[in-house]
Amino acid sequence: MNIQNNMLIGGEWCEARDGGTIDVLNPHDGSVITRVAEAKAEDVDRAVAAAKAAFPAWSAMQASERGRLLLKLADRIEDCAEELAQLESLDTGHPIRDTRNLDVPRTAYTFRYFGGMADKVEGSVIPVESGFLNYTQREPIGVVGQIVPWNFPLMFTSWKMAPALAAGNTVVLKPAELTPLTTLRIAELMQEVGFPPGVVNVVVGYGHSAGARLAEHEDVGKIAFTGSTETGQRIVKASAGNLKKVQLELGGKGANIVFEDADLKKAVGGAAFAIFHNQGQACIAGSRILLHERIADEFLDRFVGLARSIRLGEPRDPDTEMGPLTSKLHQDRVLSYCQIAKQEGGEILLGGTAPESPELAGGCYVQPTIVRAKPGDRIAQEEVFGPFVTVMTFKDDAEALAIANGTDYGLGAGLWTRDLERAHLFARELHAGMVWINSYKRVNPASPFGGVGKSGYGREMGFEVMREYTQVKSVWVNVDAQIPPFYKR
Ligand code: NAD
Repeated sequence: MNIQNNMLIGGEWCEARDGGTIDVLNPHDGSVITRVAEAKAEDVDRAVAAAKAAFPAWSAMQASERGRLLLKLADRIEDCAEELAQLESLDTGHPIRDTRNLDVPRTAYTFRYFGGMADKVEGSVIPVESGFLNYTQREPIGVVGQIVPWNFPLMFTSWKMAPALAAGNTVVLKPAELTPLTTLRIAELMQEVGFPPGVVNVVVGYGHSAGARLAEHEDVGKIAFTGSTETGQRIVKASAGNLKKVQLELGGKGANIVFEDADLKKAVGGAAFAIFHNQGQACIAGSRILLHERIADEFLDRFVGLARSIRLGEPRDPDTEMGPLTSKLHQDRVLSYCQIAKQEGGEILLGGTAPESPELAGGCYVQPTIVRAKPGDRIAQEEVFGPFVTVMTFKDDAEALAIANGTDYGLGAGLWTRDLERAHLFARELHAGMVWINSYKRVNPASPFGGVGKSGYGREMGFEVMREYTQVKSVWVNVDAQIPPFYKR
């Protein structure tokens, strides 16, 4: 397996100026997989300078040529699919069946989608007063700083880089310090397929040093951030110096509402995927299940049964359905919510602890956990970001809506019903950036992704994200306008 340990700056793989390194750990057993160069502020400065130097030529390159490089990269990712799936599994703890079937194909798909988008970013002609031609053009911003979390490092590398590059920006990307390996490998593949030096720079480092420097840097025109709401708030403050554009994809507390007329088999399967896929470490996880009281018992019987049968295990075993959480610190955090649940009087229907099996004892595992709680409880309000789901019941639609909308977050929400009117009414009324009807957690590079409220602002994916990575210039041309003189002399 090819593992790159250095950072990519201006087309060179280099060590940190001060020689610092970060150990990358295997969440299955805590062993050190490798050690990567740790970027500090001065390394980030070098990366931004390289991106700035590369910007004029990259933004002037014919858009279809930029697209062609992204398409070549997508092909190369498919050539290396198994290697990338293994590496992502090793580094993050995602089960290999998921990295093979979801993470890697979606990564290739995203680069391909935006490869095709590169030459379709149009301006428009605006009808203004006669005699004038007014048109707009979408221009790249310049150097874009991108900061991503550890839960889907490979996929998020594509979500961030692909549209930014298609639009003609150059990039400095900081992966999470816990999970940098597949991003570094993608950067190598980008070099292989011919991205010019400096167009993409990757610096691995901690948030308080490398991340903070990128967020405040005067030469960075935009920060695209995915991570927690608290860090998002820090980034907004850090960005104030040069008033850079900011795009925030933050936390969530997704409501998944099951009505009395739902197809229960589908709802149970969908709700389990919504919370247990990737060990619940997803911003859009369906971490609150709202059940109509008439079907609550039957739903829970089936749901608890299904969750109990989920196979925990070593992530690279093809039979594993749930791997470890990505770090020990995070495992402790998720387990602390099990304690909070007990203190709040929540009824633990399943799990609540690390698994007992000795083979998993050295890893960051948590059992699928299902807790019945009240809407105002901390476990029904705060993002746990683990295989931990809070279950509540409701009597009628009004109560369901009030509970669903009763958090500060507004990212994803789902509902299960056969009633068309109710489905569309809820789609309209839910405080969320994405709503899934009789499904949950669908994503596609063509469909806008993002939240409202404390889940952030701006949208990834689709044409929406091209607006985020460009700025509009309005151009006025006096063709044959008859304008009376302003000064009559
Ligand atoms: P985090 O905010 O701690 O870290 C995310 C990234 O920010 C990391 O690269 C980290 O090094 C960096 N960072 C930390 N402090 C920083 C600072 N002061 N300045 C600049 N960068 C800094 O989040 P996390 O724990 O890695 O990820 C989990 C969070 O991410 C959850 O809240 C989850 O909901 C959220 N998330 C949101 C989305 C979305 O699209 N809305 C997707 C995935 C994850």
